[in-house]
Amino acid sequence: MAIDAEPRLAYRVCPLCEAGCGLEVTLRGTEVGRIRGDREDVFSHGYICPKGSTLRQLHEDPDWLRAPLVKRDGEFVEVSWDEAFAEAERLLVPVLETHGRDAVGVYIGNPTVHSIGALLYTRSLVRALGTANVFSASTVDQRPKEVASGLMFGGSLTVPVPDIDRTDLLLMLGANPLESNGSLATAPDWPGRLEALRARGGRLVVVDPRRTRTAEVADQHLAIRPGTDAFLLMAIVHVLGAEGLVDTGPAGPHLSGVEEVLALAEPFSPEAVAPVTGLPAEAVRDLARALAAASTACVYGRIGTTTVLFGTLCSWLVDVVNTLTGNLDRPGGAMFTKAAAGAANTRGSGPTGKGVRLHRRHSRVRGLPETLGELPVACLAEEIDTPGEGRIRALVTCAGNPVLSTPNSARLDAALGTLDAYVAIDPYVNETTRHADVILPVPSSLQRSHYDLALLQLAVRNVAHYSPALLPLDEGQPPEWEVLARLALVAQGLGASADPALVDDLMVGALVDSAVRDETSPVAGRDPAEITAALGDRRGPERLLDLMLRTGPYGDGFGADPDGLSLAVLEANPHGVDLGPLQPRLPEVLRTPSGTVELAPPLLVDDVSRLRQALDAFADGMVLVGRRDLRSNNSWMHNVAVLVKGKPRCTLHVHPDDATRLGLADGGSAEVRSRTGKVIVPVEVTDGIRPGVVSIPHGWGHDRPGTRLGVAESHAGVNSNLLADDELVDPISGNAVLNGIPVEVAPA
Ligand code: SF4
Repeated sequence: MAIDAEPRLAYRVCPLCEAGCGLEVTLRGTEVGRIRGDREDVFSHGYICPKGSTLRQLHEDPDWLRAPLVKRDGEFVEVSWDEAFAEAERLLVPVLETHGRDAVGVYIGNPTVHSIGALLYTRSLVRALGTANVFSASTVDQRPKEVASGLMFGGSLTVPVPDIDRTDLLLMLGANPLESNGSLATAPDWPGRLEALRARGGRLVVVDPRRTRTAEVADQHLAIRPGTDAFLLMAIVHVLGAEGLVDTGPAGPHLSGVEEVLALAEPFSPEAVAPVTGLPAEAVRDLARALAAASTACVYGRIGTTTVLFGTLCSWLVDVVNTLTGNLDRPGGAMFTKAAAGAANTRGSGPTGKGVRLHRRHSRVRGLPETLGELPVACLAEEIDTPGEGRIRALVTCAGNPVLSTPNSARLDAALGTLDAYVAIDPYVNETTRHADVILPVPSSLQRSHYDLALLQLAVRNVAHYSPALLPLDEGQPPEWEVLARLALVAQGLGASADPALVDDLMVGALVDSAVRDETSPVAGRDPAEITAALGDRRGPERLLDLMLRTGPYGDGFGADPDGLSLAVLEANPHGVDLGPLQPRLPEVLRTPSGTVELAPPLLVDDVSRLRQALDAFADGMVLVGRRDLRSNNSWMHNVAVLVKGKPRCTLHVHPDDATRLGLADGGSAEVRSRTGKVIVPVEVTDGIRPGVVSIPHGWGHDRPGTRLGVAESHAGVNSNLLADDELVDPISGNAVLNGIPVEVAPA
């Protein structure tokens, strides 16, 4: 280990969650010292949560794999990188050649979105595999919002975010950013931002079956019955229409479908939905009136609104309410970020476009719909374990731990054991990758550069922030992009020793070609060779990022605007570059076929009949919901001692009335059963949960044999996704239902 005489400070963005806090890291050579919030960071201003300071522990985790593993006679053995890729080729190619491209499935886990190398080069791998069987964490999490935004605004990442720094009234449904640090709305320091909202006289209303930490700081908490937010939102639309409160504000000239959506809401009066939501009709009327009367307001819905049977309807209705109250695209309302680099919506060349295409094909076994090029992960297990033509026989996973994070985990766990071949790109032998034949590890976060390509599309302020890698790669370890590129070349049949630069050059070439052909690009019509040459010697994600920044909305346009952004500019600004508060973007942000905000997309209009039917027959009974904790996020964070120490957090929250009725005692154990499985879990009696609802956090259950997660194993907890029913999905998005799962609870 090289030690400098003097410690030095380095800066980087924390890649562990969507908030993207700036960190100040003390380094002595390659030794990492203190990590704290970067007070000069343009977005986070020094805020940090307990996870951010653990990048050193993660980097030094003895369970983090430093060499590839190959399974021989049922045991993992360390091999060289060349041997590992040769083994991947030996296993995958025969499956592809004998059974076709769809015989190899791919699962893309959540950490992929937090790594620029993984995000960009996983695309190449998926393309090289050429399989229709693509799955990701998005269908256990956010696909309803992506689908609803795609249908309304034309792009799956064209998601309006709450302008929390300027709003007067924030209505938050199924979100708990004081524990989760926010999602689909990138904002470091939610506690500070919500405090500021209330300090300036604003109001926070939280709708959640649990009195979460966020609900505790709210002005009003409505303890809704899980899975019924779509009814509440419909009732708000109903009141806005019935009481003549609709005022579409600045978005008005760009809307279609206003009358249709008001007509759809007619049957859903606050009185009609009250027996379903469990909320008093008058409280809902007051809420609708308050949203209409506020000088600025915004509705923000998250996990409790997306991981439910009516997930896409909910996500749509959140923005319907934002629109009908005049708060869409208005400062203090729900606004569109203009990011410096990334997706097509950043440049803004609308309003017309192709929109999003959905349901172009269906899964083999159950006929679940494709969305945005992927199938619902709720059907991954059955696509593996159901015999017949088109069965998935081999799998590639890119990060993630679906055995703990996707529904009916027991079935997926068993199915993975039957695969002919399984290659995992992952730093851990976890509950999922223990089934792999080959594990290709990636460098630690501190050994990777960082730019939040996707998450900055959803930031509540326009910012750009690049972090170089702070530590060198381990001996022989390829960068993450090369691991993915080499595997892509294997999948393409070019062999285990093909040069990953081939993939990189191809990607840059395609992006340059697209930029020079795009009439709205600052490099439209220029010579592709000149642009490529101007990118210099950079390779990998840095070259792609530089290209995206320079051709983006704030870019230097390769000379067109000498003061514009480039990667060099970001490198010179280690605390980030502030590009200002969100600005109105209608209509240029739109990509819908009509060139309008489509408030009544036919797919969603049709689905309202399902909601109407459920109004009369909403199932009763005990239901399970999830729960977040500030010290947890992905399951591998349970392998960091400082994040799991203290009182066990994987407990069953039960209301005192239910505990008495069911004979459960605080500190005792309960057996929780669903259609798919059962768990025995410690009981925590609390009035912070609605009667009729119980809660278990997800991502636990580190008791499977064959893993290498030493710390997590001693804080195993139970896997709540053994209870999540893979048969329950939102039919529009295919998203799994992880909140509102019917369960039976009894003393264990
Ligand atoms: S809030 Fe998220 S980004 Fe910020 S320090 Fe915590 S884990 Fe990292």
